[in-house]
Amino acid sequence: MKASFRNLILTRFLLLILAFGPAMGVTHTVQKSETCYSISRKFQVPVSALMAANGIKDPRELKLGQKVKIPSKSSSKKTSVKKGKTVKLAAKVSRKVSRKVAPPRRKSLRVVIDAGHGGRDRGAVWGGVRESALNLRVAYRVEALLKAKGYAVTMIRRSDRYVSLGHRATIANRYGNSIFVSIHFNATKHTSVRGIETFYVGKRGSYLAKSIQRELVKNLRTRNRGIRYRRFSVLRQTTCPAVLVECGFISNSYERSRCKTTSYQAAAARAIVSGIERYDRAY
Ligand SMILES: [Zn+2]
Repeated sequence: MKASFRNLILTRFLLLILAFGPAMGVTHTVQKSETCYSISRKFQVPVSALMAANGIKDPRELKLGQKVKIPSKSSSKKTSVKKGKTVKLAAKVSRKVSRKVAPPRRKSLRVVIDAGHGGRDRGAVWGGVRESALNLRVAYRVEALLKAKGYAVTMIRRSDRYVSLGHRATIANRYGNSIFVSIHFNATKHTSVRGIETFYVGKRGSYLAKSIQRELVKNLRTRNRGIRYRRFSVLRQTTCPAVLVECGFISNSYERSRCKTTSYQAAAARAIVSGIERYDRAY
């Protein structure tokens, strides 16, 4: 009778350890230059769980020599649920991160992005605004958005450097199943002129131009100067569907003040990407 009672106690104790053991985790003493982030990486637990387990509200609160509880991986989720608002937010963030980590479905189309001008060729310069710099900023945004959507991307230039028109086309012609999108801002001595226009060569180029132009006009709410067939050297020499997008006139003071802003550049990039996506779906 006594022995079976002891066994019962032992079994209960073991069950308790199994149930709460993982939640106890381990303790870690904060070393020099360690942060919530580096500790969470070290023990492979979410920062949110680490902060929740130690009641840390501001990650900068961490002090040298401080003892922090490391939540076990399995318990981090439980802790998150129990600790209310802050942790709910943290869980949201970690969900967002895991969504980001999931690789997007690979698209077969490659987009060659050409930030117009660069280096000694500054493009148009008006009111202290250099076209080559604007082109590159928009190009970077287009690149990031396209990559997030699973497109293969080639950037003709990634810094303020000169690339000849011939070499731009040569780079573009290295790839099969690609499109070439040259990004520019416009200028003319007639300073009242403003709006968006897109140039193209070839039939497929015209489809791509139409699609991008439509999105740009819709997104940027500016004058629609339409799409135009123009045998610009950089377009002529590329073998794939090619367009040259003029995202606005920096010679017009009103439009220049818009073009300078990151919100305008971001909107232009989003529109170019939507246009590319529409084209990709349709052709
Ligand atoms: Zn230009």
